[in-house]
Amino acid sequence: MMKIFIIANRLPVQIERHADGLCVTPSAGGLATGLGSLETTAEKYWIGWPGIHAETEAEKTEIRDALRVHNFFPVFLDQDEIENYYEGYSNSTIWPLCHYFPSYVEYKSAYWEAYQTVNERFAEAARPLVEAGDAVWVQDYQLMLLPALLRACCPGIGIGYFHHIPFPSYELFRALPERKALLNGLLGADLIGFHTHDYMRHFISTVYRVLNLNCHLDEINLRDRIVHVDTFPMGINYDHYRSSAEQPDVIAETDRLKEMLGQQSVILSVDRLDYSKGILHRLEAFAGFLDAHPEYREEVSLAMIVVPSRDSVEKYADLKEGIDRAIGDINGRFSTMSWTPIHYFYRPFPFTELMALYRLADVCLVTPLRDGMNLVAKEYLAAKRETDPGVLILSEMAGAAVELDQAIIINPNDLMDVQAAILTALSMPQTEKRERLLTMQRRISKHNVNRWANDFLQELQSITAQNREVLQQIVGKRLMTELREHYEAAKNRLLVLDYDGTLAPFTAKPAEAMPSPELLDLLKRMKADAKNTVVINSGRDKGTLDAWFAGLGLDFAAEHGAVYKQNNTWTVVQTPLENWDEEIMAIMTHAIEKTPGASLEVKDTSLVWHYRNVDVWLAELRAQQLINALIGPAYRLGMQVVPGHKIVEIKPASVSKGVELERRLNESDFDFVLAIGDDTTDEDMFNALPADGISIKVGDLSAAAKYRIPLQSSVLPFLDFLTKRGVH
Ligand code: UDP
Repeated sequence: MMKIFIIANRLPVQIERHADGLCVTPSAGGLATGLGSLETTAEKYWIGWPGIHAETEAEKTEIRDALRVHNFFPVFLDQDEIENYYEGYSNSTIWPLCHYFPSYVEYKSAYWEAYQTVNERFAEAARPLVEAGDAVWVQDYQLMLLPALLRACCPGIGIGYFHHIPFPSYELFRALPERKALLNGLLGADLIGFHTHDYMRHFISTVYRVLNLNCHLDEINLRDRIVHVDTFPMGINYDHYRSSAEQPDVIAETDRLKEMLGQQSVILSVDRLDYSKGILHRLEAFAGFLDAHPEYREEVSLAMIVVPSRDSVEKYADLKEGIDRAIGDINGRFSTMSWTPIHYFYRPFPFTELMALYRLADVCLVTPLRDGMNLVAKEYLAAKRETDPGVLILSEMAGAAVELDQAIIINPNDLMDVQAAILTALSMPQTEKRERLLTMQRRISKHNVNRWANDFLQELQSITAQNREVLQQIVGKRLMTELREHYEAAKNRLLVLDYDGTLAPFTAKPAEAMPSPELLDLLKRMKADAKNTVVINSGRDKGTLDAWFAGLGLDFAAEHGAVYKQNNTWTVVQTPLENWDEEIMAIMTHAIEKTPGASLEVKDTSLVWHYRNVDVWLAELRAQQLINALIGPAYRLGMQVVPGHKIVEIKPASVSKGVELERRLNESDFDFVLAIGDDTTDEDMFNALPADGISIKVGDLSAAAKYRIPLQSSVLPFLDFLTKRGVH
């Protein structure tokens, strides 16, 4: 049976030592709940740190055995590793960077070393457990190197990674000395998930800029496989929060608090102690509100829960001190004998009391400066009733703001905005509160944590299955065997091959574009078969093709069919242009001058504007501007503007790769016709094929082609298999 492994820094379990042995209590965190109800028959396992130190081998064995019954496998970490890998690289380097606190980032080689060692330890722990066909889902920023480590040591598994915190803009991530290693670590995965499209966009642009890889929409193209990136906004266990809010003990606690507070309105905030949560900004905004609106004094109070976290770390201790001081100042300034503006709790709250506060609060004030998602906002909404609706004020910097657009959305840095939101919330009519609440409840009840886990794992499984399917199509059974049988039975074959991006990888370095010895051998063999007509149909000029394939006696069509070579003789279809139109030249030159890294290639019959070395954003802008500018003059001159792979080309409308194919088809009665290519201009070939022709698109899908080979690296093995003698 297939197995699913969740690998997270921490196992969802509390272990305590008692006199009579270990007491293991699995905890029902969000992820554990989501996985609990997966629509799958697969067995589920967890790998992670058990949160307890083991001094001796005997203790480790004892812990291992106690966890085994819950399908948990421990990874043991010593105190040093916790300090350097967890508190260090994870929480003092990656965390502040991803939350836009670059000045808090600590760069220490001991942190990085421990991070690598511990990620390797996790891979070692997984290795003996996982088998080909299993799915592994790695959780969060403590384990960014793990996907690649797993790919290296556990072949044949599906690997997913979910990033629970924000992924910052490239401008921040580039500052990290280990940026390449972390990105390469993540790219070991088949599927990488984020909470929002913004995080996904930042990640893809960072991969593009730091690793210079080809990215197209939600796919990152590696040489031998494709990594998929998608958004999966994490939800909560909605039904649990909803029904818990109706429990008698929660209702009793709510009533007790209500009685104590009388007619006062309550604004609630709940966070872990963290500088990313905007706690000081919130306090300042609340004080400003009381200043600006004296009519609300004694009418409203702020209940502020801060859950202790990392307060042995200096930054956190400083923050705690700042909060204590600010609250002291505000309460000192505004309190009366019968009213305290801020009720402050620096401790974790028992679940019943937390639920009672959610039920009670008229407003929930969530103001992080950055937050991957923010679950408190969703829990508050789940606990509220239609009969007593509350208002959510939510920072636009929290991932949750994308989904919860019926909240009052604020910029936490804009204190006047927060104050205005508090006023709006406190004076909002009941009907509006109700409508907003119900709309958001509908959303979060559907997009709950079960759906989140299911969506991710289903997508991972379908990607993994697709990868296997694709592999079969190219080198394996069905289609390959069919095509080969067809090939062997044929007596007169036409094989038309595109060059860049098809026979050779698309590369930014001209030296790497030359044909490999492996390709030359393959072409020689294909050409040696008297039943074959092999044509390289390329946009390159004739001089380049002659030089690269010297001595092979191949046929070519160069410059998209403007000139072709057959029986060692070049024939001109389109007379070379003596002078390029002045307006077109001026547009091209202007585009080059405005675009660092772009270049112009002047061929006999076409002009090509190359932008493979241009910054991705600028390239898209300039390519679009160039196309717009060229369309008018091109029409006037009977020319065609063709956007291609990192190029914009202008050529006579009368020549195309399809024209060359038609010419060949008219010359002879072929019984096997194959055309293969990767770019826009190759679509003309596909469209010119007879009904039984075989069209193969390399890379993305194309409506014009019958078949697809997703990766260029699979093309030569495919042609080799197709044309080799005596292989079955
Ligand atoms: N929470 C808790 N104990 C408390 C207060 C809050 O366990 O005393 C929980 C809260 O219910 C929520 C989580 O802590 O599920 C906080 O998650 P969130 O996404 O809001 O912030 P994070 O701490 O993950 O950055």
